[in-house]
Amino acid sequence: MSQSCVFCAIVAGELPSTVVYENDHVLAIRDINPVAPVHVLVLTKQHFDDIVDLGENSPESSAAMLEAIASVAVIEQVSEAGFRTAFNTGVQGGQTVGHVHAHVIGRRQLSENLG
Ligand code: AMP
Ligand code: ZN
Repeated sequence: MSQSCVFCAIVAGELPSTVVYENDHVLAIRDINPVAPVHVLVLTKQHFDDIVDLGENSPESSAAMLEAIASVAVIEQVSEAGFRTAFNTGVQGGQTVGHVHAHVIGRRQLSENLG
């Protein structure tokens, strides 16, 4: 656990969250400030700073992350209509919480413009 990391505190049960899905390596929770009717965050249970740290250091958590994204899409009933998955990374990537997480966003038409 990384000291003063909000997502580590959620994984440890020290902060409240609404859990949508869980597997051995990741937890999926509702975003507190949703930008669409479906906005779920998939967090690794172990602390990794970002997708680079995750991808370089844990094949197990990386695979679990993809499995969880697919499961969340099915649970939230967006797998057929479509949805967006984003990993904001670093300052220019707009990352505000330094613990790797995937945003799963959907149930409305999203812009084609990612910029
Ligand atoms: P990012 O800007 O990609 O780092 O995204 C961080 C996301 O975490 C934002 O969408 C926030 O709304 C969300 N967030 C921050 N704190 C919490 C929390 N305690 N519970 C749920 N979502 C949170
Ligand atoms: Zn953390």
